[in-house]
Amino acid sequence: MEIITNIKQMQSISDQHIYNKKTIGFVPTMGFLHEGHLKLIRRARKKVDILIVSIFVNPMQFGPNEDYKIYPRNFKNDQRLLKNEQVDYVFKPSTQGMYAIDFSTYVDESQISKVMCGVSRPGHFRGVATVVVKLWAATKAHSIYFGQKDAQQVQIVKRVFRDLNIDIKIVIIPTAREKSGLAYSSRNELLTIEEKKEAIKIYEALMWAKLEIASGITNINLIIQALKRILESSPLIKVDYIEIVSYPDFQKIQKIESKILIGIAVWVGGIRLIDNMIVEAQ
Ligand code: AMP
Repeated sequence: MEIITNIKQMQSISDQHIYNKKTIGFVPTMGFLHEGHLKLIRRARKKVDILIVSIFVNPMQFGPNEDYKIYPRNFKNDQRLLKNEQVDYVFKPSTQGMYAIDFSTYVDESQISKVMCGVSRPGHFRGVATVVVKLWAATKAHSIYFGQKDAQQVQIVKRVFRDLNIDIKIVIIPTAREKSGLAYSSRNELLTIEEKKEAIKIYEALMWAKLEIASGITNINLIIQALKRILESSPLIKVDYIEIVSYPDFQKIQKIESKILIGIAVWVGGIRLIDNMIVEAQ
C-alpha cells in the first residue's frame, strides 16, 4: 500500500494503470475509519483491480462555526485498517495542494440541495460537490463508492456527475449500523457514553415512522410532529431537522404516496448526527 500526497503523482499513477487496462475504484473519506467505511472498501475491493481510498477532511464543506477543527483524525490507525483491507493507494492530499490560494471554481448543485442538510448547512454541498469532482480528477477512477448514510450527498454527486458528463459508475452501499441501530459515524467518537445511549433514539424513531407509513399513514406533518416528540423525549437531543421528501430526487411533497426518504438531523449534546430511511408507501 502506497501513500500518495501529491495530486500530480496520483494522476500519473492512475494514468499508468489505465494504460495497463486496469479498472480503478475509489472510496472518498474524511478518515477516522469505522465499519461503515470498511463496508464500502470491502465491496470496492471485490470489484476493481486498483483500489484508491482518499483521506481528506475537506475544509470547504464545513461552515465557519462547524466542527472542522475538532473533527476526529487518526491517520496511523486508518493506515493500519486500510492495509488490512488490501487497499492499493491511500490518497491524502494536503489542503494547500487541493486549494490554491486564489482558488475560485465551485460545483453547485441547485435542486437536490434545496432541502435537509442543504438548508441547515449552507455551502456544505457546494464543498462536497467541488471536492468530489477534484478527487475524481486526481484519481481518474472508473467507479466511486458512497454510503447511503449520506443519502442526500450521494444523490447530489450522482446529479453532478451526470450534469457534467463525468463518466464514472457510482455504487451506493447500505448504512452500516451498530447492534443498537446507531449508524456508524466518525462523529460518534465525540459522544459521551450517556449521549451515545440516547443517540439510539434516532434509529428507533426512523423504525417507528417506517411502521406507521407501512400501516397506511400518509400525513407528513403528523409523522414529523410525532418523530420530534420521540426524539426530544430525551433531554440530550435537540432536533435540527426532520424532513420527508420524495426519493431519489429529494423534492418536497404534500403527502406520502410513493417512495420517500425520511431524513433526520439532531444535536446530541454538541454533536450533530444525521440518519435516514427510505420507505415505500402502501
Ligand atoms: P465520511 O468519512 O464521513 O465523509 O464518509 C465517507 C463515506 O463513507 C461516505 O460515502 C459515507 O456515506 C460513508 N459512510 C459513513 N458512515 C457510513 C455508514 N454508517 N454506513 C455506510 N456508509 C457510511
